[in-house]
Amino acid sequence: MTKISLSFDDGRKDNYVAAKEILEPLNIPATFNITIGYVEKTPNIEKPSEHIPMSIDELKDLYNNNNNLFEIAGHGYEHNNDVDNLIKGVNELRKVLNISDKQKLGIVSPHSEFDTDTLPNVIKKLKDNNICYLRVGKNFANNVFMRKAVRKINRKLNIPSIFSWSYKDSDIKNTDEFLLYSSGAIKDTKLKELKRLVSDAIKNDKSYIICFHSILKKDEPFYDDLFTWDYNDFLEFCKYLKKLRDDNKIEICKTIDLINN
Ligand SMILES: [Zn+2]
Repeated sequence: MTKISLSFDDGRKDNYVAAKEILEPLNIPATFNITIGYVEKTPNIEKPSEHIPMSIDELKDLYNNNNNLFEIAGHGYEHNNDVDNLIKGVNELRKVLNISDKQKLGIVSPHSEFDTDTLPNVIKKLKDNNICYLRVGKNFANNVFMRKAVRKINRKLNIPSIFSWSYKDSDIKNTDEFLLYSSGAIKDTKLKELKRLVSDAIKNDKSYIICFHSILKKDEPFYDDLFTWDYNDFLEFCKYLKKLRDDNKIEICKTIDLINN
């Protein structure tokens, strides 16, 4: 069955609000990828954005929520891709949330850039540190440049079938199960495009991780940022997913659950 995993990058405060106001009431699981130095407000580090981070208490609240609805994954201590920084971030997350070294955690790459030469060493180091997946933005497989170019053009056209096609390679079943790919919703992404991605996934028995950054209402600061998605659209998308789940057409799961079966 098609699986859809919703994933939120950075540890932004608005992610916590969306979790409490939308995801929890609809019983929709999700994964939160935390740049822990950003959440801890460590001075002079590379931050993911100027947005307000969630607080440590809010992070703990997400992790400890009653239904085990939410997954916490690493997203660097600082917001960069250096492998030691990624591991430092996960170790700090373990400390703050009281997660044992034996429990496997996932990592989402900030900026999603790795070069294919160094990737095997990165993966080995992460596995040695009990990391069970690395989610990157792009698939290194065929057609990646063409799909990327088409995706860029379609940001203005917003044709749902083209949007869906451009993420064809990001199907999780196309991975070696340590490297995971994702599809992203940014400012220019329309609700109808995400819906088409999901309906095509059902048709073709594919599974996707859909990645968000900020979820904001029209009158909030940063609403016009490239990485913001509209609160009401997000609410409607979640209701659409819930309906599909109620009709037994999809499963909605945490990213870590994609690799456990
Ligand atoms: Zn990020």
